[in-house]
Amino acid sequence: MRDRDSRVSERSESTYDFWSRRHYVIATVGIAALSGCTGGGGGGEGETETADQTTEPTREVEEDEDDEEDEDDEHEELPEGVSQEEFDRGPVPDVYASATSIGGERRNPDALLTKSDVQFSEYDEALENSAHQPGRCCANCHEYIIDMNGDEFGACVAVEGYIDGADWCTVWEELPEPNVPEGLSEAELPTAEVPEAYRTASSQGGEERVPDDLFTQEEVMLTESVDAIAEGTAPPGQSCGNCAEFIPDQNDDSWGACAKVEGYVAVEDWCTVWEHITEEL
Ligand code: SF4
Ligand code: SF4
Repeated sequence: MRDRDSRVSERSESTYDFWSRRHYVIATVGIAALSGCTGGGGGGEGETETADQTTEPTREVEEDEDDEEDEDDEHEELPEGVSQEEFDRGPVPDVYASATSIGGERRNPDALLTKSDVQFSEYDEALENSAHQPGRCCANCHEYIIDMNGDEFGACVAVEGYIDGADWCTVWEELPEPNVPEGLSEAELPTAEVPEAYRTASSQGGEERVPDDLFTQEEVMLTESVDAIAEGTAPPGQSCGNCAEFIPDQNDDSWGACAKVEGYVAVEDWCTVWEHITEEL
């Protein structure tokens, strides 16, 4: 049986790989663009007028096509069979139509804002927006609906179209901090035995919680997702809310638990063994 340290390491690598995959295309595009800068030759003195007339327009068309491809690659890859129009405006798949967000709010498909209404953007772009605050992204927003069909994207109870955990918009809403349960102090929450309903429950990714085989919160550096992303410990797009190991609230106290980590865990938390729910769908 593997020890906990090796499992922490494996999971961290898995998380890193997932994040790297999302950004590999952008890195490749950057290198390709750089190559393009050095590869294009200007017209020399020896070029004929005929050559200019035939080669220049061709090169411009090729460059325009390259630019369009670069712009497409820098944005999120669309789910298979989904047009850009559908991605931006919906409709989203039926499973999301009236789904519930990680903050417990129900989606009404007839009362949604457009992405342009709310300056919707990917996280990198949000960093340039003066309304954005560090660490805030859809994955730690009250309105976010996690991936339910395995295409990596979720949805939102406030905004139309497909939504990734690493996106952001101006109506981002903080998840409420759960109250400390009666009979416990705040300092006891990380190591406290969770209520009966969670002890051997299955996580939202289908993993059963084994009370004698859990990491401590200290081992996995459990903290709030907004803080972890703001500090650069976590990449944008990760929270317990969209983690395969999370066990959502079972007893209406606003807390949850985890199939891998002991103690009370809240939907807005995050730790180093985070695993995307998509990987279990
Ligand atoms: S940040 Fe905006 S788009 Fe993202 S989940 Fe929240 S309300 Fe929806
Ligand atoms: S649910 Fe939260 S605490 Fe549990 S493994 Fe996922 S990120 Fe870590």
